[in-house]
Amino acid sequence: SHHFVLTAVPRGLPDSSLFALRQTPLPDLAQNEVRIRNRWLSVDPYMRGRMSGVTTYVEPYALDEPLAGGAIGEIIASRHPHFQVGDRVRHMAGWRDVAQLPGNDVEALPLHDVPEQAFLGVLGMPGMTAWTGLNRIAAMQSGDRVLVSAASGAVGSLAVQLAKRAGCHVVGVAGTPAKCEWLESLGVVAVNYKGKDVEALSASLKAASPEGYDIYYENVGGPLLEAALENLRDHARIAVCGLIDRYNDTDAGSGPGNLNQLLFHKARMEGFIVGEHWQHYLTFLDEVAPLVASGKIKYRESIVEGLEQTPEAFLSLFRGANEGKMLVKLDA
Ligand code: NDP
Repeated sequence: SHHFVLTAVPRGLPDSSLFALRQTPLPDLAQNEVRIRNRWLSVDPYMRGRMSGVTTYVEPYALDEPLAGGAIGEIIASRHPHFQVGDRVRHMAGWRDVAQLPGNDVEALPLHDVPEQAFLGVLGMPGMTAWTGLNRIAAMQSGDRVLVSAASGAVGSLAVQLAKRAGCHVVGVAGTPAKCEWLESLGVVAVNYKGKDVEALSASLKAASPEGYDIYYENVGGPLLEAALENLRDHARIAVCGLIDRYNDTDAGSGPGNLNQLLFHKARMEGFIVGEHWQHYLTFLDEVAPLVASGKIKYRESIVEGLEQTPEAFLSLFRGANEGKMLVKLDA
C-alpha cells in the first residue's frame, strides 16, 4: 500500500515537500477487517487544522503516520460479515491507494442514483455541512436575505442552491469571473471579492442586497466577515462554518474591528462542527439526494488524477483552484 505522511508541522501555507509518499506491505487481513482499493480521495480545507500539531475538535495528524481523510473505494478482500468483495464503501482512510481497516469503520454507499463520488461532495460531508449550517444553525426562513462566502465551493454551492429553493434572496461571494458566472447561472447574485478592501467589499455586498442580510453563511473570515458585519439586518444569524482566510496564518492576528455590529443588530454568531450533527444525515440525504439525482441541484467537481497529486490538490484549495468539490481520482 502507498500512503502519504506529513514529515513536519507546517508554518503558514504548507510546502508540498512536507508530504512524503511511503510504501508499506499490508499485514494479513484480521478477523472483521476489510481491504479496500480506493477509487476517490477527498481533500478538504479542515485538513489544514489537523496539520498544526494541536488538538482542536479532532486529533492532529501524527507526523510520519498515514494521513487520513474521506475516501470511496471497492472492497477487494473481506473478513467482515457485512461486506463482500466488490462492495462500494466510504471510510476515512484516505491519502492512500489501498486501505485496510475494521469493517465497523466502513460504510456502504447509500443507494441513490448518482455518481459514487457525489458521496464525498454534494451528498457527503460538505453537502451535509451546507444543509446543517442553514437549517440547524442559521434557522433559514423563506424570504431571508442570505449571504454565502466561498459560494462556488463544495459547501457554498449547495448552500446557495438550498437557500434559493427555500425562497431566499441569495448573494454568493467567489474569487474568479468564471465562478461568479456559474453562481449567476444558479440564480445567485455574485460578488467577486478579489482585490477589494473591507470598504469596497461592504459596498459590493450592499449593492447586491440593499436591505442587508438576515443570514451570513461564513466560510472565509477576515475582511469578508468585517464587510458582512457592516451589512447585517436586525436579528441576523451568522453560521460560522469555516474561516479559510485564516487557516495558514502564523499568528492569531486581530479580529474584526466591528463586532459591535452584532450588538447593534441583536445578531447571533454561532460556530458548528458537522460531525456533531451526523444523526441528521439521512434526513439530509432524503431531502437532497433526489434533487441531485434529478439534476434540480447542480454540483461541480475538480478532479485530479493519481495518488501522487493528492498534496497538490489539497494545497490548491487555498488558491481557489477548485470549482466545486476537489477530488483525487485513483486508477482502480
Ligand atoms: P471549497 O470547495 O469551498 O474550497 C475552498 C475555497 O475557498 C476555494 O475554492 C476558494 O474559492 C476559497 N478561498 C480560499 N482561500 C480564500 C481566502 N483567503 N479568502 C476567500 N476565499 C478563499 O471548500 P469546502 O467547501 O470543502 O469548505 C468550505 C468551508 O467550509 C471551509 O472554510 C471549510 O473549512 C468549511 N467546512 C466546515 C465544516 C464544519 O463542520 N464546520 C465542514 C466542512 C467544511 P475562491 O476562488 O472563491 O476564493
